[in-house]
Amino acid sequence: MTNNFFVYNTLTRKKERFEPLNPPLVGLYACGPTVYGDAHLGHARQAITFDVLYRYLQYLGYRVRYVRNITDVGHLENDADEGEDKILKKARLESVEPMEVVQHYMNRYHNNMRELNILQPSIEPRASGHIIEQQELIRKIMNAGYAYEVNGSVYFDVTRYSKTNHYGILSGRKIEDLLSNTRTLDGQSEKRNALDFALWKKADPTHIMQWSSEWGDGYPGWHLECSAMSTKYLGMQFDIHGGGMDLLFPHHECEIAQNVAGYGHSSVRYWMHNNMITINGQKMGRSLGNFITLDALFSGDHDLLDRSYTPMTIKFFILQAHYRSTLDFSNEALHASEKGLMRLLKATDALDSLKPGTSSSIDVDKIISSCDKAMEDDMNTPVLIGHLFDGVKLINGLSEDRQTIGKEDLVKLKSLYHSYVYAVLGLTKSEGSVPGKGITGNLVEMILQLRTDAKANRDFETADRIRDGLTSLGITVKDKKGGADWEIN
Ligand code: ZN
Repeated sequence: MTNNFFVYNTLTRKKERFEPLNPPLVGLYACGPTVYGDAHLGHARQAITFDVLYRYLQYLGYRVRYVRNITDVGHLENDADEGEDKILKKARLESVEPMEVVQHYMNRYHNNMRELNILQPSIEPRASGHIIEQQELIRKIMNAGYAYEVNGSVYFDVTRYSKTNHYGILSGRKIEDLLSNTRTLDGQSEKRNALDFALWKKADPTHIMQWSSEWGDGYPGWHLECSAMSTKYLGMQFDIHGGGMDLLFPHHECEIAQNVAGYGHSSVRYWMHNNMITINGQKMGRSLGNFITLDALFSGDHDLLDRSYTPMTIKFFILQAHYRSTLDFSNEALHASEKGLMRLLKATDALDSLKPGTSSSIDVDKIISSCDKAMEDDMNTPVLIGHLFDGVKLINGLSEDRQTIGKEDLVKLKSLYHSYVYAVLGLTKSEGSVPGKGITGNLVEMILQLRTDAKANRDFETADRIRDGLTSLGITVKDKKGGADWEIN
């Protein structure tokens, strides 16, 4: 199977033709969320980037096994080896079980993904379900001499590894610089060097999430799960590993070191990283007060938002930038995206009612090849969308009889828009069909509130009239305690 798909490989720092190891099968791994809080814009960008890649590879004819993990243990607060486990901390603050925190935020993450029309991965492994595999890898790394045990914890020996390997190969860092830039150990740490990272952490008896091992009771270090789970499901060598740029160092750098030390070789052919989202030019952060969750965007409930935005508007806004560019969030940018999205969806819809003529006044093959080229060039979605917009002008011309199109060309044009707009970009035309979302959703909610009020006043005639009116519009109302659920048929 051949293709012209070129991807930018973070490891080699250049665009390379995508050649999978075992076509037509493609192995794709992307780091998923640590589930201790609601998903935000950064989560959306990463999920959308690799969802489009997943969809595009399938569009090219590959069979993709897409593994996206859930981190539910071992991710400590400062992303290094100190501080509290993020999930345990949340559980302590809310007086619930850690696995209740995990389940709660995992469900909410899945809801957000559904709202954004992101496909489910083929496999979604959890760190806590792969302790045995992680312990096995620690043993391999220790046997190879690249890890040491201290007081029931096991650390990766970066200095030793660097003697024969390049720690920093992915992020372009030099070990000498890393060593001189890291703080010197204060004597409190049990690590030999500040760069060393935990493979296994000893748990004190009050620590809820712990497992037994030959090094004592403890839990795995954060970086380990991705090395163990990606190779378990995709093989010792696989095609693509993705994630946000914030994971490049140390997370992915450590993953490479673990694989080289434990398996004798690195496992990933193409490393792909999406860039970050800034808010009005600033980095997004909980402490900066500009941290916007997806739920807040969908409901409009945030000081920085002038109103609510639908999941598809957020998605289209993200797709209008190349995944490797930074993307700046603003209300103005979202308004523009919303308008653009409506124009694109309307034109795609209009294609279905066009009648073919005897010949074409427009060059359909040219539009198709421009769109194909854009995606082949490292998934350049903004350029793709630009070409689709050029096509929108032509489609509008066809609708207004200023242009003509032959039968065969019309079939090709329809297929192009359906493939790229719906199948590859994953946009949907059901704006407002998700309850509580969008203008339609808000209007239905408002009308149902009037019905609830009418019922409370024992005005059943009005309540029934509202229900019948909604039914005739294709909206099914189901009563529940204290209100009503609804869906668009
Ligand atoms: Zn990971």
